[in-house]
Amino acid sequence: MFDYDLFVIGGGSGGVRAARIASAEGGAKVALAEESRMGGTCVIRGCVPKKLMVFASEYPEEVQDARAYGWDAQVGAFDWMQFRGTLDKELDRLEGAYRSTLLNAGVTIYDARAVVVDPHRVRLASGEEFSVKHILIATGGRPFVPEVPGGELAVTSNEMFLLDALPKRALVVGGGYIASEFACILHGLGVKVTMMYRGASILRGFDDEARGLVAAAMGARGIDIQCGVDVARLEQGADGIVAQGTDGKAREVDLVMYATGRKPNSGGMGLEASGVDLGARGQISVDEWSQTAVPSIYAVGDVTDRINLTPVAIREGHAFADTVFRGVPTKADHELVASAVFTQPELGTVGLSEEAAKGNGPIEIFSASFRPMKSLFAGRQDRVLMKLVVDQASQRVLGCHIVGAGAGEMIQLAAIAIKMGASKADFDRTVAVHPTVSEELVTMRKPVRVV
Ligand SMILES: Cc1cc2nc3c(=O)[nH]c(=O)nc-3n(C[C@H](O)[C@H](O)[C@H](O)COP(=O)(O)OP(=O)(O)OC[C@H]3O[C@@H](n4cnc5c(N)ncnc54)[C@H](O)[C@@H]3O)c2cc1C
Repeated sequence: MFDYDLFVIGGGSGGVRAARIASAEGGAKVALAEESRMGGTCVIRGCVPKKLMVFASEYPEEVQDARAYGWDAQVGAFDWMQFRGTLDKELDRLEGAYRSTLLNAGVTIYDARAVVVDPHRVRLASGEEFSVKHILIATGGRPFVPEVPGGELAVTSNEMFLLDALPKRALVVGGGYIASEFACILHGLGVKVTMMYRGASILRGFDDEARGLVAAAMGARGIDIQCGVDVARLEQGADGIVAQGTDGKAREVDLVMYATGRKPNSGGMGLEASGVDLGARGQISVDEWSQTAVPSIYAVGDVTDRINLTPVAIREGHAFADTVFRGVPTKADHELVASAVFTQPELGTVGLSEEAAKGNGPIEIFSASFRPMKSLFAGRQDRVLMKLVVDQASQRVLGCHIVGAGAGEMIQLAAIAIKMGASKADFDRTVAVHPTVSEELVTMRKPVRVV
């Protein structure tokens, strides 16, 4: 009846998972179209290359600290093009791995843009059309740069992995996790960094105490965080790009990076004409099964703008394939999703922030902030934060927020306990691992406040 049982548009985290499971485990005849590189944002221009840049940027501090531990170590020069060469090879390898995973699963790949013609037809850029029983839109999102005079002089996170040289001075516009991470990366690689954010303080939405500590540590390292100010215009000067702020001050830099949010990739795809509902930001409206208003069309990942993280897109894609092709009705679970911000220091978070928990009945806050042994020995002033947000009535742990080296790794484990419904007493009866930073999570006896 149909050319394919499933046609997936977008070869990123959500699309690849859905295609593989539907084909290899659901026995469906599946095709996937990808207009750029297989693997999508996470693999090609997101999580993976970013984390490798984070690793690269951490070495100078580690070498400096090694001196305090007795090593005759020197921070030498950083060779950006050498790093980029290795990075490019690694991304090629990963892209190839994604491609062969799909081919081994029996998925037909089209390296082309695809659009929806009607609820049961898709068209490739070449004009070739297919009849399909189900369509999955997994087209992700893209950086959003607000209209600003001279905006064409700026780059976004997409271009950060393709620079021919590192700038000496950079302006990072935005205050979210991507802006904050890139500010730290560039700073670690030796770039003089200014961050400009129109809001009151960076990392909005994260626990106030945690984000305040991260911002203070970034400032103490030498990142110039300027809040309450935006870019009025950008101009090419003789010695660099001049960013005129809304405060009337000019800042001259070599690179301006905008990280001012992302928009779903839903435009020009024939979605509305086919009956798919789009929200105000262009996000595809779906129900808890990731189904759109058109029964044969589903959508997963960033294009639905639910929780825009790779593991969530993967879960949504998997749940869709289980439901539609494996006869196992599954809803993606969006509760208590842990995440990390790979700033220096890192922030790991799961569940409710103190601010979000307030007003839902009395909340007990357990919080410890101290200078950890390893960096204290090296003479650093960095503080870590271990924080639990606890519902007073049930004693259930509603949220956990960690700032410090390894916070991303720690929060993954804390998230298991919290997802299982752990109470404060469960944390307390867990014996500490000593000497570690995270032992504080099980040794905080009295709340610092009740709100
Ligand atoms: C700089 C950065 C850092 C990030 N860091 C993290 C992190 O540390 N941890 C984390 O969990 N998440 C992180 N994310 C978010 C994560 O990358 C996304 O949530 C995830 O990639 C979403 O997956 P997706 O499948 O929805 O879309 P994507 O991975 O964006 O894939 C969509 C694919 O669809 C293709 N496409 C679009 N339109 C069409 C079309 N019409 N036809 C054919 N193909 C099309 C695109 O080329 C793309 O390859 C980061 C994102 C960025 C930008």
